[in-house]
Amino acid sequence: MQGLMQDTPLTLPHFFRRAEQLFPDKEIVTATAAGRERRTYGEWAERTRRLGGVFDALGLSADARVGTFAWNTARHLELYFAAPCTGRVLHTLNIRLFPEQLTYVVNHAEDEVVFVDRSLAALLWPLIETFETVRHVVVMDDGAGEVPAAGGGGGPEVHDYEELLGAAEAVEFDVADENRAASMCYTSGTTGNPKGVVYSHRSTWLHTVGVMTADSLGVSERDVILPVVPMFHANAWGLAHASVAAGSGLVMPGPDLSPPALAALIEQERVTVAAGVPTIWMGVLPELAGRDLSALRAIPCGGSAVPRALSEDYRAQTGLPILQAWGMTETSPVASICRIKSTLADQDEDALADLRASQGLVSIGVDFRVVGPDLDPVAWDGESRGELQVSGPWIAATYYDDERAGESFTDDGWLRTGDVATVSPEGYLRLVDRTKDVVKSGGEWISSVELENEIMGHPKVAEAAVIGVSHRKWGERPLACVVVKPGEELTKEEVLAHLEGRIASWWTPDDVVFIDEVPKTSVGKFSKKDLRSRFEGHVLPTDAG
Ligand code: ADP
Repeated sequence: MQGLMQDTPLTLPHFFRRAEQLFPDKEIVTATAAGRERRTYGEWAERTRRLGGVFDALGLSADARVGTFAWNTARHLELYFAAPCTGRVLHTLNIRLFPEQLTYVVNHAEDEVVFVDRSLAALLWPLIETFETVRHVVVMDDGAGEVPAAGGGGGPEVHDYEELLGAAEAVEFDVADENRAASMCYTSGTTGNPKGVVYSHRSTWLHTVGVMTADSLGVSERDVILPVVPMFHANAWGLAHASVAAGSGLVMPGPDLSPPALAALIEQERVTVAAGVPTIWMGVLPELAGRDLSALRAIPCGGSAVPRALSEDYRAQTGLPILQAWGMTETSPVASICRIKSTLADQDEDALADLRASQGLVSIGVDFRVVGPDLDPVAWDGESRGELQVSGPWIAATYYDDERAGESFTDDGWLRTGDVATVSPEGYLRLVDRTKDVVKSGGEWISSVELENEIMGHPKVAEAAVIGVSHRKWGERPLACVVVKPGEELTKEEVLAHLEGRIASWWTPDDVVFIDEVPKTSVGKFSKKDLRSRFEGHVLPTDAG
């Protein structure tokens, strides 16, 4: 027997219309170099409909990829809805990608137009002639930066956003097919070129509602949301869509992500939810001292592991520990979040702090398994480790036009996240490494991340990365690459003595080398690939002779 309910497609015009009809007076604030701009959802909706008219006037094709190269602003939110709600595909370009990666993604996605903030024009301009399919560049004036002079003939036409909008007619939004592409985002590519993830209306719709559930970020009409996490990388964790759907107040930080600017926005705009990566919150904490944070209710944080000490420092100073979440571009991105179950809430603060340093429980809508190489599930004992794999309606099924897709998906259709995790008896996930980075010593796994955390706990260490180096007897053994704080001196013996008693003795690195800096990817994550090639021939003292 079949259900007898209406088969309404799950498409984004539904969220757009909610904000337009039910919350026209709610505000979107954007911090710009020229001051804070305030716009209501009513004004935003009217402009977004006219932006749809701009796309028609520019002659964009029916499923044109619409590139954006922009900060978090109200205009970017206009693009977030105008593109998918007219059937086009929003393509957020990560401004931090290396130049050759940007050229690759624009050409691979076949963007027809790129919308760029004036403050970012100087960064984009040198690449424009490498873009093969871009016919229009639209500059959004955010109060700072220069627009370089147009090159001689043949290149894309350059327009001003407000001029185009002023001349455009509003359009109706209607998308009938929920599986139509809504947007795309490329991974930042730690190995090789970035890979394209294509979100559908349906996946975005369901992810948005997932993010709104109380045990996820719980976005509601009463919230004032500050997405510090960029709209150009992993959809600002769904907060842009969820705010529109819920009618929440939105505070867009624009280009100035400095700690004083963010702290002032949180206090003055009475922000309730402020979301960003750990490095952002490390910088902001000292700036929060003495401020009125009474409106703040959650500080979601992810993208890399949230150090326990950071969360505890927030708890001590603001009363609010950090709310850790985990996800990837491929998972829309929110896939797990660390809420403490009511049945676990009675533990002492130390145990709770440990739990908050984990990646938490998988989100509603996402299935997960942690498995060994033969897909056999590991025990839920908080110790056994394996690869975290996920599936669900907002998890990528494949990459856009990419031969490498086979490596990332299992035969039964699950996404291989490349993250190594343990699961506690209560179902809490704890990420211990990346599959490519674990050190495989004599068939056992050593977590490079745990070793790094312990080494970085040494007061004289600025940064540390651990890689596996080949070893005749064990296959691989750990090598610690350590950056010493300026003005300090440190020896290999001191590093190893510091680790004693903190790790299993067989995890002890076989050697320690001192380096000036840990190489980073374009988005600032440790590039172990570069370190591995630098130390490829390194002979460990335990393997010499
Ligand atoms: P990329 O574009 O570099 O693939 P993503 O933002 O998609 O970047 O990165 C996803 C990866 O970031 C995850 O697979 C995981 O390794 C890491 N990550 C995200 N959130 C967390 C977290 N809370 N703790 C530890 N690692 C995290």
